[in-house]
Amino acid sequence: MAFRTLDDADLAGKRALVRVDLNVPMEDGKVTDDTRLRATVPTIEKLRAGGAKVILLAHFDRPKGKVVPSMSLRPIVAPLSKVLGLPVAFAEDCVGPKAREAVNALQPGEILLLENVRFHAGEEANDRKFADSLAANGDLFVNDAFSAAHRPHASTEALAHRLPAYAGEQMRLELDALDRALGHPERPVLGIVGGSKISTKLDLLRHLVTKLDKLAIGGGMANTFLYAQGHDVGASYCEKDLADTAREVIRLAGQNNCKLFLPVDIVVAEKMAPGAPARVRDIGHVDEDERILDAGPETVERLCRAMGNSKTLIWNGPLGVFEIPPFDKGTMEAARHAASLVKAGKLVAVAGGGDTVAALNAAGVVDDFTFVSTAGGAFLEWMEGKTLPGVAALNQ
Ligand code: ADP
Ligand code: MG
Repeated sequence: MAFRTLDDADLAGKRALVRVDLNVPMEDGKVTDDTRLRATVPTIEKLRAGGAKVILLAHFDRPKGKVVPSMSLRPIVAPLSKVLGLPVAFAEDCVGPKAREAVNALQPGEILLLENVRFHAGEEANDRKFADSLAANGDLFVNDAFSAAHRPHASTEALAHRLPAYAGEQMRLELDALDRALGHPERPVLGIVGGSKISTKLDLLRHLVTKLDKLAIGGGMANTFLYAQGHDVGASYCEKDLADTAREVIRLAGQNNCKLFLPVDIVVAEKMAPGAPARVRDIGHVDEDERILDAGPETVERLCRAMGNSKTLIWNGPLGVFEIPPFDKGTMEAARHAASLVKAGKLVAVAGGGDTVAALNAAGVVDDFTFVSTAGGAFLEWMEGKTLPGVAALNQ
């Protein structure tokens, strides 16, 4: 896909409406993780360098089309200003007279944050009139919120049709990384899909077997695959009603020449508790009261060998209950092995997913991976091969 980027834009004196992701985790009015704030810096810097007036559009939480004071973006002004090292003005509404006055007061290079776009019902409805009202305050539109691109909302979709639209720097980084991992990867390309449920990742599995050379299945969902193949899974988490689906995925993988890696051994325990006595078992040898909580050492070793024989890795979902040691072992070892291959220049490794990012953080490898997406739902939908409305709208 071809996008206009800020390299192509004439910015001097222009009012740039920039959709960013400021939906940061907050506790007691304090931002607990400023990753998303830092992600806005390159685009804002580039716009300022070109002499644009920077007008930020964002949502916070789920006010459902009403003004909910606890979901105001105002508390983000100070932390954002700190990250940027620059003053940030604020307007109490994203449309109407308050927004207009604040925009009119802006000088080139200055930054203004408009109030939560989701305070208006038109945002999530992708309403044209609301998009017109937003567009009235800009000369161009920059979408830098890949993480919001899977929803067709006024500030992510309709607005892109009303003004000259550009992909921001973070959007560009994310799209480039995803293209390297799945769009046009260096082959062979290996996928790892883990996590708890098959039911949330069906579309993902069906799509990936058509794209990848190899796919390793781990985590709770691997239990369903083992069960579908007739193995005992004891008291493990297992979606038995999805056994047919698991068999369908196995069949599709065969049809598409995608080599499947299912566990060959597993780690079991009677209790899912920190430090619970854990045993390694061959698949099929699980007692009634035992639960499968991690991949076994032989399985992890095979997976690491498969990484070594691949050029590209795309990873979503932990291999075990990584939150509760010792059941983090498989995920940690696989993560560190991938990171070492990336550092040696032998592998492109891209990962995403809320818990996956937490697991890679726990392994201390986030900075070593080629790219780790914090986009959550948008990352998963893209991995499923779906068209993201916010991305498609830029591609005009
Ligand atoms: P992501 O957020 O990265 O997409 P998921 O939400 O699909 O990942 O899955 C993460 C969850 O899967 C974790 O909370 C982890 O504890 C759980 N999980 C992994 N392996 C197992 C298992 N064998 N049994 C039960 N839960 C598991
Ligand atoms: Mg999750």
